[in-house]
Order: sequence, then C-alpha cells, then structure tokens
Amino acid sequence: MAEILVLVDHVDGAVRKTTLELLTLARRAGEPAAVFLGSGYDAARETLGTYGAAKVYVVEAPEFEQYLVVPKAEALAQIARSSGAAGVLLTSTPEGKEIAARLAVKLGSGIITDAVDVAADLTTTQSVFAGEYTVTAQVTTGAPVITVKPNAVTPEAADGTDGTDGTEEKVTVAFSDAATKARIVDRKPRAATGRPELTEASIVVSGGRGTGGDFAPVEALADALGAAVGASRAAVDSGWYPHAYQIGQTGKTVSPQLYLAAGISGAIQHLAGMQTSKTIVVVNKDPEAPVFALADFGVVGDLRTVLPQATAEIGKR
Ligand code: FAD
Repeated sequence: MAEILVLVDHVDGAVRKTTLELLTLARRAGEPAAVFLGSGYDAARETLGTYGAAKVYVVEAPEFEQYLVVPKAEALAQIARSSGAAGVLLTSTPEGKEIAARLAVKLGSGIITDAVDVAADLTTTQSVFAGEYTVTAQVTTGAPVITVKPNAVTPEAADGTDGTDGTEEKVTVAFSDAATKARIVDRKPRAATGRPELTEASIVVSGGRGTGGDFAPVEALADALGAAVGASRAAVDSGWYPHAYQIGQTGKTVSPQLYLAAGISGAIQHLAGMQTSKTIVVVNKDPEAPVFALADFGVVGDLRTVLPQATAEIGKR
C-alpha cells in the first residue's frame, strides 16, 4: 500500500492534535507515514504509532530551529521522493501552507489548501466564499500535496496497535544553500493565557466591535467553557486584542465544534475564518446583523448582559 506522508506538527515532541487528525485522514487513503522534523522524537513516538503511523521518518537537524521553513520543505521533498509517497498531508497553518507550497514546486505536484475533508482517493473537499460553495477537487499532477484545516475530523486511534509496533527510519538531509538564507534571530513567546491554542480549540468565543473594547465578558465565558478567545479585525485594529487572535481572511482560520460570535456583524472577511465551524452561536443586539444568517443558534441582546448570564449558568453545572 502506498505511503501517505503526514508532516508532524509538534513542540519539542509534544504532538499537536492537528497531526492526529491528519493521521486519521491518511489512514483512509493508504499507509500513514509520519515525518518528524526536529528534536524530541522520543516523546512523540508512541502517540504517532497509536494514531496509525506505521512508519516514522525522523530528521534531527538543528537547521529546523535556526532557519525559516525552507529546511523543512527540503527534508519533506527528499523523503517524499525517496519513499515514492502517494500524497503528503500538512496542517493548514501559515507555516504548513508555506511548506506545502514550496514542497509542491519541488515535487512538481499539484497542491490543494484548506481542505475540510480528504477521501480515500485523495479527493478533497473545500468550503469557500463564506460556506456558500463546497468545492470537490483532485490533484491531477504528481503526488498530491494537501493542507487540511484543523478540526476537519475527530482524531481516532488506529485499531490493533499499542503505538509501539511501527518502524522508524532516521534520515539525513543535505540542505541546499538556499535553506539557510533566512535565519531566525529571536523568538518571543506569547504570554501564556492558560487557554487552548486558537486553531486547535474545540470551542472558540470571539468578540468584535460590539464589545466596545471590554473583552472581560468574552474571556470569562471562554474560561467557563474551556475555550480559546478570538477577535474580529475591528477589535484588533482598535487595539483591543492582539492580532494573533484575529479570525478571518487576514487572520486565523478556525473550525471548532462550537463558535460563539459576540458583537460581530458577520462581514464576509470574518466568515472566511470561521464558516466551517460545526455549530455557530451568535450574540448580537441587532436582529438584522448578517451573522445571524450563518447561526445555528442566535440571541438578540446586549453581550454585556447575555455573556455573563451564560457564564453564570455554566458555572452552576
Ligand atoms: P462591526 O461590523 O462594526 O460589527 C459590530 C457588531 O456588534 C454589530 O453587528 C453590532 O450590532 C454589534 N453590537 C454592538 N454593540 C453590541 C452589544 N453591546 N452587544 C451585542 N452586539 C453588539 N474582519 C475580520 O474579522 N477578520 C479578517 O481577517 C478581516 N480581514 C479583512 C480583509 C480585508 C481585505 C478587508 C477589506 C476587511 C477585512 N476585515 C476582516 C474587516 C471586515 O470587513 C469587517 O470590517 C470586520 O469584520 C467587522 O468587525 P466587527 O463585526 O467586529 O464590527
């Protein structure tokens, strides 16, 4: 059975949930083989096996930490070529998409980004124009390179494995001069919020201009639900919330089980970042707000009243 490569998204070996989603999808299409780049593999080994990575390619090179994405694209391309992989799956993050684009060029393959589903024959589903259209597409040239939005599927452990029966192959990569042209000089970690990562959270509570700059009710509800906090561009541009939390066309794309939009009107550029959420709840004082058209549940009311009520109610349960 042909291998489907999955680029492992991890922090020092702590594997992100999105990788488990990719492994779950890869099992439909062939034999999943994880590609682990960087340090910390020992911490990741069992998780990758449990979710069906029959094989793991491991490249432990300092270049991944020191330089931007080119070393990762080169390593992945080398492994894709030598393994004769039938396809490559990556997470739809800014980094994942940049690696995917470079990889597709190196392999001479077609690329599909922001898939929300991948079928057994690597046909993908994308949701576009604020969910107005569903596109079914297939790469016709080379091994498909596909980026998949977080939360596209629920990760499922593979049957019949305790995670320790897969094989691993250490790979050495000779990087090109181009791989070391852009060096990382500094990293500034964001202040820890204790909340889940926005693109991975299964619940997101977002605030917009309707918050008037006070995100306390949004954050309190998010904490009661164990959710991440998001923001519209109007809120970000006003300096009320950091850009890292902006959702939409020029921000992050989320696809949680539950998305709650408070004081957000529903501009198409915002919808572009959250339209594939499984259940959408809206709190807006204007019953004519366009965002209600996308809502599964809507409350017409002032978020400064509705959100604290919801938070208090959840607190009682
Ligand atoms: P508004 O549109 O002003 O809506 C505020 C809403 O809050 C209204 O519906 C109002 O009824 C409601 N409200 C007010 N007070 C209360 C209250 N007390 N309680 C409850 N409801 C209340 N936007 C994004 O979000 N993300 C993007 O990535 C993005 N990218 C863009 C890219 C481009 C190229 C362009 C041109 C625009 C982009 N925008 C983006 C901006 C987008 O067009 C909208 O301007 C923006 O989404 C509006 O944010 P908002 O809904 O918070 O504000």
